Amino acid sequence: MMVCCFSFAKAQTSKPNILVILCDDLGYNDVGFNGSTDIITPELDKLAANGAIFSSAYVAHPFCGPSRAALMTGRYTQEIGTPYNLRDDGRDTRSGVPVKETFMSNMLQDAGYYTSAIGKWHLGDYPEFTPNKRGYDDFFGFLGGGHKYFPEKFQPYFEKQKQAGAYPINVYFTPLLHNDKEVKETEYITDAFSREAVRVIEESKVKKKPFFMYLAYNAPHVPLEAKEEDLKVFENIKDLDRRTYAAMVYSVDRGVGQIVKALKETKQFENTLIVFLSDNGGNFDHGANNYPLKGTKGDTFEGGFRVPMFMHMPNVIAAGTHFDHAVSALDLYPTFAYLAKTNLPKGKVVNGKNIWNDIKSNTSPHKDEMIYAWRYREGYSDVSARKEDWKIVRMGNEPWQLFNITKDIGEHKDLAGQFPDRVKEMVDETKLWSKKHITPLWFYSQADADYWASGRFPGFEDTFEIDKLRMSPKEYTEWTEKQKK
Ligand code: CA
Repeated sequence: MMVCCFSFAKAQTSKPNILVILCDDLGYNDVGFNGSTDIITPELDKLAANGAIFSSAYVAHPFCGPSRAALMTGRYTQEIGTPYNLRDDGRDTRSGVPVKETFMSNMLQDAGYYTSAIGKWHLGDYPEFTPNKRGYDDFFGFLGGGHKYFPEKFQPYFEKQKQAGAYPINVYFTPLLHNDKEVKETEYITDAFSREAVRVIEESKVKKKPFFMYLAYNAPHVPLEAKEEDLKVFENIKDLDRRTYAAMVYSVDRGVGQIVKALKETKQFENTLIVFLSDNGGNFDHGANNYPLKGTKGDTFEGGFRVPMFMHMPNVIAAGTHFDHAVSALDLYPTFAYLAKTNLPKGKVVNGKNIWNDIKSNTSPHKDEMIYAWRYREGYSDVSARKEDWKIVRMGNEPWQLFNITKDIGEHKDLAGQFPDRVKEMVDETKLWSKKHITPLWFYSQADADYWASGRFPGFEDTFEIDKLRMSPKEYTEWTEKQKK
């Protein structure tokens, strides 16, 4: 008996718990550990300081749904047909991330983990696409792309709409779910998600299994709604949007404090890898600050998809590590496979790589490898491709620009004219990658669908015509006018 129990305990500690804390639209400069001077995040800062802070962490897409699809599948979202958000007006679309793409949760569940998803889902709300069907033993949260924060406000509205037989009902108002059951929530939902995370941490200890938790706060995504107690902390911030946003980030930080306490009390803190990041850059129309990065959520400038990130694991990741090499959220899938001592699912394609040893030795995991971001706009594409110090970017149908992103993090000095060969080489490599894009499985709007149906989109050929794109603004306007005729 003793032998049995001892071996079991040993086997248990050999696989670390994995806790992913994802924020929604959190700006690069909106946490203390990345230099925020007005938003305080003491709990996050403590973890960051005792682990590794990643200054060049990229998500695979500059907005919500596609970024999450990439995180869960380890694949560029354009390669699996999920580059658009699911619509959030509540209409039944029957769409979701294809089930043939095995989620990291499936892999970890198969590797013996107790798996949970808490918070925002946004990967499909039709039954086959919901968290319990995608490798999560436990789910608490909402299935749509965003949500109101105060139950006393969203619940009565939803009930009224439902009784009136309204269709569709905007997903921001739907009841929270625990697995497939509607719950009558009473707390501010950021607090509810922290509470549920604590519950799952306690449960997983009893289950004697390592846990994988995907804690996806929708804070500080709009609507900007904060508790009075959190707003009071930021009375010095005059701008109301910024103050509310700050209070929302602070509510996440309070929650992280409770989670750390629960991990310590259940003696799981030492054996838990905590990964904190945002799903995309901050939206500067809604209180965020991406300084020193250029651009906002949705852009392929750095502000769109370079995110605040840290990893914490005591005695494994050295405290005080500053990791400045580029990493991608796509790397998490294979890295977690390594930590869980399991193989990638059979036939699984991933676009990232296991970066665990590079993190520990502070070496670049992506030498000579491109990290991409590509957003389909209406009739053209915003694109970014980074390799080590260099980054090409195309934004707003303007010509390609080139930056030394290590020296010029704010993308101020376009060096494309100075290094045309480098631009061409990087554009050509991006063009090769674009051939792997497939037609999207759904569209957020009819306009998007029409662009694709018309054959004018994604406009790959236009995207890669460097010479044409180097025209002066005047020449370019004349050229586009001519195309319309
Ligand atoms: Ca987002």
